[in-house]
Amino acid sequence: MRPLRQLVDGALTSVCTMTTSPVIIGSERSEAGLALGMDILRRGGSALDAVEATIRKCEDNRDDVFLGTGGLPNAQGVVELDASIMVGSTRAFGAVGALQHYPNPISIARRVMEVLPQHCLLVGEGAALFAAEQGFETAELLTEYSRRRYYEGLQPTDRSLEGENTKAVDGDERYRLSALELVARLGPPEGMYGTVNVIALDQYGELVTGVSTSGYPWKYPGRVGDSSLPGCGNYADSRYGAAACTGRGELSMRVGGARSVVEGLKQGRSPVDACLAMLRDAATLPDPFRAELRTLCLTPDGRHAAASGQTTATYNVLTATSVGVETYPRTVDDVHR
Ligand code: ASP
Repeated sequence: MRPLRQLVDGALTSVCTMTTSPVIIGSERSEAGLALGMDILRRGGSALDAVEATIRKCEDNRDDVFLGTGGLPNAQGVVELDASIMVGSTRAFGAVGALQHYPNPISIARRVMEVLPQHCLLVGEGAALFAAEQGFETAELLTEYSRRRYYEGLQPTDRSLEGENTKAVDGDERYRLSALELVARLGPPEGMYGTVNVIALDQYGELVTGVSTSGYPWKYPGRVGDSSLPGCGNYADSRYGAAACTGRGELSMRVGGARSVVEGLKQGRSPVDACLAMLRDAATLPDPFRAELRTLCLTPDGRHAAASGQTTATYNVLTATSVGVETYPRTVDDVHR
């Protein structure tokens, strides 16, 4: 048994020393990188390296339109990325939000944690300045496919707000209706859209969570979601467990989603009950833009669970003995049945 490596300046040194069987879990579409993460863990590498490497693979997957290169853009057609990483033993946290032009925000989030321990989160221009100073390379993030999705979404399809109908309402209401109509036309794509969450437990007992996303498609420019915020999209505490969220980030922000799941574990709930309790709490909130919220968690002894309001939602698991990525259904919250 040996202590975990020190982070760059030593300020965030992990305190884990025990021997554990490694596990890595992830949300839908994490399978693009999970095998690489488990490879690192099997070779005795750290959960921190495993999570970063797994998420980088997903960020570089151009077929995934919800993070990194190819992520769907904001309402102005610009890709803005959110990402965060958290170390369970020290609760060190690093994040970036609304970051443009950099394809691997998870690595920049890790760098914030390691070289700027006086801060947790950098956004927008400041995050880009930091990334440039740290030697990260910029790239074109908007692919032909995501550009097309965006422009197709903007084509007028509904003329019901024109002519007689528009004369019937006053200016304020007409403005509101047309804004809603625009949002409806720019609705998210079908299927299991959303952020990629990855949680790893290494042989030293360290738990690390990473989250990366292009956020809600067509979001207001500058909007930062739960994925960048500790306790909302991402939380890890090696004593009890780690959790992460995908889906409607504003709900996760309002209930402190990931932190609330870990709090449930602390109180002795099983992983699945801790996930369900958080979703039930979120389901009580009024929200005119309600959309799916999903969560998953992993405990320091390797138990895991995931929950969702959608019956088709899944999550992925790799243990030290798995021969391939195992995909499990998420438990469906009764409130949504
Ligand atoms: N949680 C992400 C956000 O609100 C989006 C998602 O996972 O679909 O930015």
